[in-house]
Amino acid sequence: MSKGSDIKLIDENGRRIDGRSVDEVRPIKIEVGVLKNANGSAIVEIGKTKVLAAVYGPRDPGIRTILLPNRATIRCRYHMAPFSTHERKSPAPSRREIELSKVIREAIEPSVIAEAFPRTTIDIFIEILNADGGTRTAGVTAASLALADAGIPLRDLVAGIAVGKVQDTLVLDINESEDMYGQADMPMAAMPSIGAITLLQLNGVLTEEEFMKALDLGWKGVKTVYEAQKEALRKRYVELKNIEVI
Ligand code: ADP
Repeated sequence: MSKGSDIKLIDENGRRIDGRSVDEVRPIKIEVGVLKNANGSAIVEIGKTKVLAAVYGPRDPGIRTILLPNRATIRCRYHMAPFSTHERKSPAPSRREIELSKVIREAIEPSVIAEAFPRTTIDIFIEILNADGGTRTAGVTAASLALADAGIPLRDLVAGIAVGKVQDTLVLDINESEDMYGQADMPMAAMPSIGAITLLQLNGVLTEEEFMKALDLGWKGVKTVYEAQKEALRKRYVELKNIEVI
């Protein structure tokens, strides 16, 4: 992505191209338990970015070589649907998708109590349905909820958000235009109750002072996403209880 373009991304009133203030997260919509055939699933919308996550496991994959004697093997596939971008994306896995699959797995792994399920696999599938910036962080957010929905014990939920720098200003939850024409982007994911960051990347340049401010802003976004995650899980739990009553 080209960084540092002249396109005006913040107006004289401090509003961004989609009308948000600099520290505002896009509207979040989450639904948990959306797929009948997966053990756990979730759909996360943040602005126009829309991501589906499905979890299978813990299960015996039938491939002995990948099993670990003391914990579950966690596998993750991040995939962009051909219709998720402006130009049709090839359905074949790209280098970027292979890299993001690993990045997301590493962001999720610390949260899973994998020791409880030796000699099994837990598979996470992330499908980007619509991409408008922040798909890896929305992928982490959705994957964590799908794991919880599958009943897999977690140390905490993992919530993700991306901070960016546009027109020399730090902004929270960047969209695709801000990512493309801005000066820097910093995706982040964390377990808020534990206070542990599990994903932190930086594309572009920030001063040390900007980096510390970006971290603060990232935490603010992570906590907003975390509240939305908990609310979605609560809603799902109440629905399940209602079904039992009937
Ligand atoms: P992230 O989605 O985590 O921000 P990137 O920084 O690589 O990851 O991508 C930023 C945005 O650029 C994506 O959210 C998406 O909107 C767009 N994008 C990424 N890859 C492609 C692609 N192959 N074709 C079209 N748009 C893409």
